[in-house]
Amino acid sequence: MLVAKKYVISKHFDGEPKPDDLTLETFELRPIKDGEILVEAEYLSVDPYMRAYNTHLPLGSTMLGGQVAKIIESKNPEFPVGKRIHGYFGWTTHNVLNPDEPSKDLFNAKPYIVPDFGDLPASLALGMLGMPGNTALYGFLEICKPKAGETVVVTSAAGAVGSHVGQIAKMHGLKVIGITGSAEKCKWLVDDLGFDHAINYKTDDVAAALKQAAPDGVDCYFDNVGGEISSTVISQMNLYGRVSVCGSISCYNSGPSNLPKATILQPFVLSNQLEIKGFVVLRWVDRWMEGIEKNLAWIREGKLKYRETVTEGFENMFDAFVGVLKGKNIGKAIVKF
Ligand code: NAP
Repeated sequence: MLVAKKYVISKHFDGEPKPDDLTLETFELRPIKDGEILVEAEYLSVDPYMRAYNTHLPLGSTMLGGQVAKIIESKNPEFPVGKRIHGYFGWTTHNVLNPDEPSKDLFNAKPYIVPDFGDLPASLALGMLGMPGNTALYGFLEICKPKAGETVVVTSAAGAVGSHVGQIAKMHGLKVIGITGSAEKCKWLVDDLGFDHAINYKTDDVAAALKQAAPDGVDCYFDNVGGEISSTVISQMNLYGRVSVCGSISCYNSGPSNLPKATILQPFVLSNQLEIKGFVVLRWVDRWMEGIEKNLAWIREGKLKYRETVTEGFENMFDAFVGVLKGKNIGKAIVKF
């Protein structure tokens, strides 16, 4: 019998996640039944949402998360041995599951065979060619409805979603301003990804730097962070500006009863008749493969560049995850099993 490993939630995160909030356990996998498969993790994703959703799960649950896994045993002809599968199997090394059933976690998403990316790494199924990629594609184009010649601001701009949004915006003829947390990230955005400007929110006066970078104001804002940075951006938006609220990582380490305060937005929303809309990417689940194909074509055409911060080893999952919350990643953060 195969012995596997998983991280179990032993304490709900309170403030910054601590190593003993999760316990690494071993467990025995049962034999597979008809319709089921046995999978072994190949790449595991570490994402900001894991901080936000951890407290929604009961203690004793497997820590939630997506992974790309190899099918190593199968009694399901649609999911043969050797294929790669994407699913929300949690922080586990191996799993026995019926791939025809949705995952039992918060997302209720069905696993799928990872399309053939040719010579590109399969880990992209956790980044540009997966959930973050579809978040960038649909969350930006469907909600900001950008037009050539407009100006967009993207926060957490050097991360998985933000770096992708900025590049899509450039393809659509926008002026792109990224806000991020280090000089190295700012340099990457401008020199390698073609952003027009990058602002370091840890060292620059964001309001003054934005006024200088966008003297005619901001038309679209892709908001990954929330809080005071977002209030600053929204206060510089133009008439009929559009805001896509993707995330609010600046408050993920605060409990729901202890959310930080930020400058109120109503005066700007009203006077400039702004549209502010939140979304969860699974609203486009019916267009999932279409999004992956679109992003894959853009990578192949050289219009989209990807970058990954890869941590080796399942035993380093926690450090990789906390690294994302602390801004240590550039591009998509991945753990290689
Ligand atoms: P990411 O941007 O690759 O990584 C998170 C980044 O957040 C860090 O690298 C760090 O970069 C930044 N950060 C951390 N604390 C911050 C703070 N207090 N203020 C400002 N920035 C901070 O992560 P991602 O996966 O692409 O996700 C980006 C955002 O999208 C997150 O808010 C996430 O929850 C959201 N999201 C939403 C959906 C949806 O369906 N709505 C789907 C996917 C992701 P810096 O160095 O720049 O600080």
